[in-house]
Amino acid sequence: MFDTLQDRLADVFKGLRSKGRLTAADIDATMREIRIALLEADVNLGVVKEFIAAVKERSLGIELSKALNPSQQIIKIVNEELVTILGGEARTIRFAKRPPTVIMLAGLQGAGKTTLAGKLAKWLRGEKHAPLLVAADLQRPNAVNQLQIVGERAGVHVFAPEPGNGVGDPVKVARDAIEHAQRRLYDVVIVDTAGRLGIDETLMQQAADIKAAVNPDEVLFVVDAMIGQDAVNTAKAFEDGIGFDGVVLTKLDGDARGGAALSIAKVVGKPIMFASNGEGLGDFDVFHPDRMASRILGMGDVLTLIEQAEKTFDAEQSRAAAEKLMGGRAKFSLQDFLGQMQQLRKMGPLSKIFGMLPGAGQFKDAINEIDEKEVDRIEAIIHSMTPAERDDVAILNGSRRARIAKGSGTQVSDVNQLVNRFVEARKMMERMAGGGGMPGMPGMPP
Ligand code: GDP
Repeated sequence: MFDTLQDRLADVFKGLRSKGRLTAADIDATMREIRIALLEADVNLGVVKEFIAAVKERSLGIELSKALNPSQQIIKIVNEELVTILGGEARTIRFAKRPPTVIMLAGLQGAGKTTLAGKLAKWLRGEKHAPLLVAADLQRPNAVNQLQIVGERAGVHVFAPEPGNGVGDPVKVARDAIEHAQRRLYDVVIVDTAGRLGIDETLMQQAADIKAAVNPDEVLFVVDAMIGQDAVNTAKAFEDGIGFDGVVLTKLDGDARGGAALSIAKVVGKPIMFASNGEGLGDFDVFHPDRMASRILGMGDVLTLIEQAEKTFDAEQSRAAAEKLMGGRAKFSLQDFLGQMQQLRKMGPLSKIFGMLPGAGQFKDAINEIDEKEVDRIEAIIHSMTPAERDDVAILNGSRRARIAKGSGTQVSDVNQLVNRFVEARKMMERMAGGGGMPGMPGMPP
């Protein structure tokens, strides 16, 4: 997301870089360009105006600084103002003093509520909570079933009305669910409600009734970011109709422009709490305005990467691999390499992971070319090796290589290439480790 905006802003700042000091005319021209870039990204006009006014005022007040050149100072201001319009501080669920904490999801049909219910439940489990999902969407055929499937994938229990789909009273279901949660000691209840294709009275009334019955601690408005400014309008209608505490943006993976993300918090005055960026249950994260701003400015999202890595990486295994490298007790083997690669891939497609690294913007083309199939091939080759071969590539003679190629459905030349690259990469890593450097991934495919 934000691809065009990122490129446009990069151009604006590039133009400033050569200037030793900025005149009022330079600042005016820069503001004009930023304004166009934001409007092209489909950002709400009112938000753009406010943003430009704030950046301009602060830019005119820039004093000569030893540390930063004028272009860096403007980047800093733009970054800070972006953080402000994105909502400032990150905010997640506020848990009730007395459990269960009740979270109600509201939004249009297809916004991604049911999927989100699963993502949120999985995330809460990771945070050591015991969530219960509640199927209060009794309108859409199959909605209960869909939630049950999602619940199963997330490993959480789903409370649904008894005889099954399409019948029952969503208000009663929601109320019963909370009693059930109290009895069974679930500490968070997530109520999935029905959506409609458009805003209508009945929908709002039903959501309002559920809200009144369960008295939720948090009402989350779930909205598809791909619908751009319509997301902002829908948010306003829901805020007027039922009121909510926070926004969840879904389908950010399909939203190239980013207008909804950049407008919604400011327009409705409610924080964006979570962001969804894919169909998988793991494609979900707490929304961090500061990280999003630096991503828009192409500074990369190092923090998200580190946090994800911490969650995904098996600390024990990583430490063992690191020790091998640093202490030289045993040589880093293809088995270790396979382990590291698999851990990295657990975080998501490699192109996505590398895309979050700082400076990734410059290597966008190379990153887009990362071929997951090539990585699959590497995994297949290593899988076809015996443990002894993985441990010591030196024993890989011609006949072993032929057997491995056959077993992994590749060519001997593929096996040779992998072994050669691995040996080269290991040499480099050993040199780095010798110099006190950090262990890293050995040579990935170019
Ligand atoms: P609901 O009607 O609000 O419950 O919406 P669903 O949860 O059924 O989602 C509608 C469709 O959007 C489904 O096909 C989901 O797989 C898909 N979806 C949900 N969230 C995301 C997301 O973050 N990214 C993408 N690409 N698809 C999503």
